[in-house]
Order: sequence, then structure tokens, then C-alpha cells
Amino acid sequence: MTVTRFAPSPTGRLHVGNIRTALHNWLLARKAGGRFMLRIDDTDAARSREEYVTAIRADLAWLGIDADGEERQSERLTLYEDAFAALKTAGRVYACYETAQELELKRKIQLGRGLPPIYDRGALALSDAERAAKEAEGIAPHWRFKLDHDEPITWEDGVRGAQKFDAATLSDPVIRRADGSWLYMLPSTVDDLDMGVTDVLRGEDHVSNTAVQIQMFTALNAARGGVQHLPHFAHEALLVGSEGKLSKRLGSLGCDAFRERGVEPSAIVAMLARLGTSLPVEPIAERAALIETFDLSTFGRAPARFDDTELERINAAIVHQMDFVAVSDRLPAGMDEAGWHAIRPNLAHIGEAADWWRLVTGPVQSGEFSDEDRAFLSQAASALQWSEDPWRALTSALKEATGRKGKALFLPLRRALTGMDHGPDMGELLPLIGESEARARLENAAAD
Ligand code: GLU
Repeated sequence: MTVTRFAPSPTGRLHVGNIRTALHNWLLARKAGGRFMLRIDDTDAARSREEYVTAIRADLAWLGIDADGEERQSERLTLYEDAFAALKTAGRVYACYETAQELELKRKIQLGRGLPPIYDRGALALSDAERAAKEAEGIAPHWRFKLDHDEPITWEDGVRGAQKFDAATLSDPVIRRADGSWLYMLPSTVDDLDMGVTDVLRGEDHVSNTAVQIQMFTALNAARGGVQHLPHFAHEALLVGSEGKLSKRLGSLGCDAFRERGVEPSAIVAMLARLGTSLPVEPIAERAALIETFDLSTFGRAPARFDDTELERINAAIVHQMDFVAVSDRLPAGMDEAGWHAIRPNLAHIGEAADWWRLVTGPVQSGEFSDEDRAFLSQAASALQWSEDPWRALTSALKEATGRKGKALFLPLRRALTGMDHGPDMGELLPLIGESEARARLENAAAD
């Protein structure tokens, strides 16, 4: 069974890039009829906050990205301890004593010589006596995972195709700090293994982590008696702003901002589901259609451009399709299904419904009219007859009686009846205004 996961660190709110990763993992699992897990990567006790965990859950719920289970790394620390012990026994982790300043100096020297800043494995060269001396000085070690330099690291990436890394071009990663706390690399591998994650789909900023983690998977599999478990990996191109750069703005653009702007979660989902793929971004409100068409092979390698104008376009188109029942609790008091249908095509956001509804409930300010138009409007007031389609009846009668057509016919009527030059379809609006109110508005405008 397909198992995917979304693994945010609760050190901040979700932004549009994280949301996209979450969504894609959800779509992948739903399409395969599998499971989608939320994993809270909270091993960094100093930076993780409970309020962000709560906000992450709330944001995912708002977006309709439902998880089939939740795990927290802070509750799984003994598992990491066990894995660490197993890797130590297998000779795959080693103690290091360099200070941050020493490491920085090494890096500078390497860069100065035009060499890549790869950790030189200085700690491996220490003799037992030197190590004992460090310990005697009271220096607690931090720990690195020892990469195997003999085998090239390869995988078939779901987005990027065949990948190959020479382990010797990578630093042995620090997996545990001197205070015993865990860095991201090992806990994530242990969890993906123990939770039976079959597909790791994440941003391409994780490509070199994958190279390292593949060796960790292999080492842990071996330590556990040779069971082979290795997920499929796929790395999607990053999201950039419409200006074409990785922008700060996108890094802080999240659900709160969208909600405030009146963007519907289904618009965000429709857009992010397909952004960066060869499929067209369309206002698809049904999740089933997005799930059905989700396919990693449609993902491109070029950065995906997030464009607010496009989001607004998708949002408006989605609002125009929304059913009354789905929105009724967000509409102004008294607005019924017919009102929603009349006004819906004019909305960019549902919150604007109240402004348009005022055209129905009144009062309206119709403004100034020429003498000729006033006479016309007075004629309209007497011609008004209530029927199935009073607008059609009124305009045909007036057309016949006055010879007016087009703008000269419609605009004074619209203005007198709504106080606006544009707006919802008058055929739908007039029945909502009602006969006596409509007549009163026409008479008022004629008298002004
Ligand atoms: N907590 C990691 C992050 O937010 C998870 C990366 C992963 O998907 O493995 O970058």
C-alpha cells in the first residue's frame, strides 16, 4: 500500500511552498488509495512551538488536506536512540570534537584553495589517546554518519529521472549534537522506515539529503537483518514568485493571508495541484478530478511560478461555480438561492456578496438623469408589469414604445434600479428587488 507523508517542522506557519508539498503527497496517496501521514518534525525543542503544531493542523483542515494519521518525532526519541546504537555497532557513526569555529576555519581554507568544503573526516584520524584527551577535557562529541565512499549512490527519481551521486563529494552529515539532540537526517530515515513510507515526495532542496538518507536506509536495513525497504523518491522543482525568484514574500505567504484576502481553499488547491506540471491550471473544485489527473510524470524540472493574478482568476471562477448550500452561512442575511445565483457571477471573492446584495435591499442612489431620461423612466414606472420575466417584459415594451435600444434603453433603467452602471444580470436582479420597490425606484429617479 502506498504511504506518503508530509513532515513539517513546527518552527513557523505553513507557507505556500509547504502547502504544495503537503497537497502533492495527499494527492499521491489518495490516487493510489493509500495513506497520507502527517509527521511533526519536532526534534528541535528550542525552535519547535506547540502553537505552530496547532496552526499546521488547522491550516491543513481548512485546505481539506486530511491526514490518515499523525506522528510526532518528539514522542519517538527512543527509536532514534536504538537506530543510533545499531549504526554505531555497525561502525557507521563516529564521534567528532571540532568546535564550530574550527569547522568554519577548515571550510575557509578549503574554499580558499578552490576545494569543495567537504568535511575532512579529521575526527576519524584521531587516535584513542587523542580521543580520551578530548573527553578528559570535558568536550562532549557530536556525531556524524559515515558515508560509504565505495558505492555510487543512485536512484530513479519520480520527477528528475536517474540520479547519481559520488558519496565522496558529500560531507558525512552530523546526525546528533553534543547535547544529545537529533538533527533532521536520522530521525526522518528511521520514521520513513518504521512507518512504511513508500513514496517520499519533497522539494528539490532535499536532493542531497536523499543521497545521504539512501545510505542510511541501507545501513539500517542491514543492521535490522537485511530487510530491504527503500521508498521511491521524487523531488519537485521549487516554487518561485511571478518575478521569477525564490521570494521572501512566498516564504511568508500562508493560509491566514489567503483567508484574509478571501481566497477559497479550493482555489489554492486547484492551483497548487497543477502548478509546475504540464497539465493546465484550471478552476477545478472537485478533488476527485484533481486526484484522478495527478501524475508525477507531468511534473517539470523548471521552477514552478506562483502568480497571484492567476490565483485570483482561479478563485473567481471557482466562486462562480459554488452552490448556495456551500456558501449560505457566509452570505448576507436574507440572501437566498436566487440572490446567490444572480450575484455569484460578479464576485471575485464571496465577501463581496454583501456589497452587491445592497443593490437588492436598497436604498439606492440613482444619481442625476437628463430630462429626457427622466421622462423615459417615468414611462418605465408605468409600463412595469409583473410576470415570469419582468425585465424582459419591461425592456421589450419600452423598446417598442420609445424606439430606444442598446445602451440608451438599458443603462438608465439599470442606474435607476440599482444605482450602478454595471452589475448582476438585470433579468435575475429585478425579481429579487420586487415589483413595488422597483416601481418606487423608477419613480424616484424620474422625479429627481
Ligand atoms: N522537516 C523537514 C522539512 O521541513 C522534512 C523534510 C522531508 O520531507 O523529509 O524540511
